[in-house]
Amino acid sequence: MRRYDFHRAADVSGATDLVLAAGGGADAAHPVRFLAGGTNLIDLIKADVDRAPAVIDINRLQLKDISETGDGGLRLGALVTNADTASHALVKARYPLLAQAILHGASPQLRNAATNGGNINQRTRCYYFYDTAAACNKREPGTGCSAIGGVTRIHAILGASGQCIAVHPSDMCVALAALDATVHVSGAHGERAIPFADYHRLPGDAPWRDNTLEAGELVTAITLPPADFSRHYTYLKLRDRQSYAFALVSVAVAMQIDDAGLIADARVALGGAAHKPWRVPAAEALLVGAAPSREHYERAAEAILAGAAGHGDNDFKVELARRAIVRALEQAASGNAQSHTVKRIL
Ligand code: SF4
Repeated sequence: MRRYDFHRAADVSGATDLVLAAGGGADAAHPVRFLAGGTNLIDLIKADVDRAPAVIDINRLQLKDISETGDGGLRLGALVTNADTASHALVKARYPLLAQAILHGASPQLRNAATNGGNINQRTRCYYFYDTAAACNKREPGTGCSAIGGVTRIHAILGASGQCIAVHPSDMCVALAALDATVHVSGAHGERAIPFADYHRLPGDAPWRDNTLEAGELVTAITLPPADFSRHYTYLKLRDRQSYAFALVSVAVAMQIDDAGLIADARVALGGAAHKPWRVPAAEALLVGAAPSREHYERAAEAILAGAAGHGDNDFKVELARRAIVRALEQAASGNAQSHTVKRIL
């Protein structure tokens, strides 16, 4: 383990000042890091995957509340734990999709420590990213990608590049994408709000950049717009074992069905498939105004997966994703969010 400087911030502006004073993003692949729950970052530092020159502890910042917003939405503080978010009465009542997705991630112990800001900033679980003997453009820009031509069971089928085929590992983020969340950040140039669709990025030719944060910017909160998806939703996660495993494929569906029985709104986000949660608005538009039916779900799935391709070991994920999307839409439309946390069988 390398030596690094450690600082403790007292407030948001102080955290930003500390990270900039420590060098900010001078090394784009290994910038100064903020420490919250530490459930991913500490592992990465101990394994010499992350070589941050300094770590800023932000655990004393006042970012630990969940509150209602003026428009009827919710504001989730960046330092609220995943466990407290999933069990919050307003989250469960208004955004059960989010609660369900969080409870599909990690283990109870990890969810008790992991924070909302940390969840959205967690790094890929690509095997080669964690193996410091392997070439990896995300860990060491310009060294190559060992996954291409290697073992690819967990890798991307959409949005990959010739530089990186890793996927984003979060379950929570798939639900946040479907719910059109907004990420609020604070930095040297003030505060800004980033639509969730623009927060994570595809690898392109800079795979070491997971998101669109600028150097020194700190996530302070995530807001959810008012929505009524509490009856028709589901988070379907398919993985190699039932507990404590990352998704091979996951699907978050939020849907509204009107009094005539037609689909009034439909959101479909795919996890385990790309470097960011994958949404295709044109595919969702195919569902709006249609009667809930397998035929329409299959058409939407085809549109979501347009251009999807595996890399050998993960070729199966294209068909797995197609079936998962159809199944998740069926579950949501029927009002049966069947999962390991909601076990109603209709
Ligand atoms: Fe590294 Fe990305 Fe290639 Fe994995 S897929 S080895 S994270 S560059």
